Amino acid sequence: MSMKRSLHVLCPECGSRVTCRTSEQMTRTVREGRMLCDNDDCGCAFVVHIIAVRLVVRGLAPNPELHLPVGRWREPANDDSPPRPANDDRIAADLVTG
Ligand SMILES: [Zn+2]
Repeated sequence: MSMKRSLHVLCPECGSRVTCRTSEQMTRTVREGRMLCDNDDCGCAFVVHIIAVRLVVRGLAPNPELHLPVGRWREPANDDSPPRPANDDRIAADLVTG
């Protein structure tokens, strides 16, 4: 049994759930959706882009024209990277060159 989850998008105006009215595949990696807020008191309509930004596992039939990086499901936040070692020569070079 597979577990499928739908993509939940929230209204940028009021934060309510929205419904995708129509969507169109723009390119191999971009799909555009026209969204309508479910909150009758809001009525916001907006456009979203769903973009493939990286692969986690390459497909079994790889597309040679696809140039996406391979990474993890979630990339670490900028402040999650390990601190630069104190004896790193680049620090001295940075101080010299500014
Ligand atoms: Zn709304």
